[in-house]
Amino acid sequence: MRTVIEKIIEGEEIQNQQKIEAAAAILREGGLVAFPTETVYGLGADALNPLAAARIYQAKGRPSDNPLIVHISCMEDLNKIAAYIPQKARKLAERFWPGPLTMIFPKRSIVPAETTGGLGTVAVRMPSHPAALALIEAAGGYIAAPSANTSGRPSPTRAEHVAQDMDGRIPMILDGGAVGIGIESTIVDFSEEIPMVLRPGYVTPDMIREVIGEARIDPGLGEERSDIHPKAPGMKYKHYAPKAELILVNGAQERVQQTINSLTREAMESGKAAGVIGTDESCGCYRYGIVKSIGTRNDEDTIARHLYGILREFDEMNVDIIYSESFSTPRIGQAIMNRMLKAAGHQVIEV
Ligand code: AMP
Ligand code: MG
Repeated sequence: MRTVIEKIIEGEEIQNQQKIEAAAAILREGGLVAFPTETVYGLGADALNPLAAARIYQAKGRPSDNPLIVHISCMEDLNKIAAYIPQKARKLAERFWPGPLTMIFPKRSIVPAETTGGLGTVAVRMPSHPAALALIEAAGGYIAAPSANTSGRPSPTRAEHVAQDMDGRIPMILDGGAVGIGIESTIVDFSEEIPMVLRPGYVTPDMIREVIGEARIDPGLGEERSDIHPKAPGMKYKHYAPKAELILVNGAQERVQQTINSLTREAMESGKAAGVIGTDESCGCYRYGIVKSIGTRNDEDTIARHLYGILREFDEMNVDIIYSESFSTPRIGQAIMNRMLKAAGHQVIEV
């Protein structure tokens, strides 16, 4: 299959609409299209067509019990797929939709088991990216879309990343340039009495509590214990991993820099190609290996935005081992570290 990449270009509204219409036609016929959202690129299929949803699992190599998020473009469309929508969920939607928040509801029968990984609940999000909203509307209102990467790899934050994983597997990629946020949506489960955060994201638990009061955090999140499992099926899988071994170094900044310098030197002396992930502030302190800045500690959004891209850059350079600072930044540090710990297979050196 030949994969066509269609660029969405600011100011060329008529051409953009034609490209989106062509993408929507593919989706309506049960095909797959990758498209930009504000979080990461999604791999879309008609969420109400079981055969189309099944194609997503095939293209990604995704385990079939890992459910998809259904993307909608207007509030009314939620009623058609969710059997029960608590008042608190409506409040969160009012505050954060369109935006990087996914909510889980008991599903209506119109949503096929192929979309929900066999679960009786459905995850729903209204993205804010204009091209995503236009595509959803043109395709009939419901696009099931996980991140558009091969299962297990870092999520795509540019169309080029999608092409690295999906070239030849899907007919079209809509290229909307680099995404704004760079990590996946926050997931809140409304299928039980007290709302529960199943995946941290740009919308933090504090922001959620400000709107609806009590909210819990999935006790299985970030745990390595075998006796408690995260409730979102996808959170238990190996994820976001670069080809190289990734090791996080956590502690006081000066000690972190010393440790990374000596570990990188040792790695290189033993013949390994080594990479270092630092920040604009710290990169000048690293003396060995290929040093990359993930962003600035003065703006934690930059760290989230470049996280997956930097892992893919190291993949391209065939690095054997990457040492990274850890980024428990004030607001979205939990979301960033959730991804980094998974990418590192929980390898952390405390200094
Ligand atoms: P992705 O779109 O690749 O970011 O993956 C979607 C995430 O949402 C995965 O972690 C899924 O396990 C989670 N998810 C989707 N639907 C549900 C659901 N009905 N219940 C719990 N988690 C879900
Ligand atoms: Mg994913």
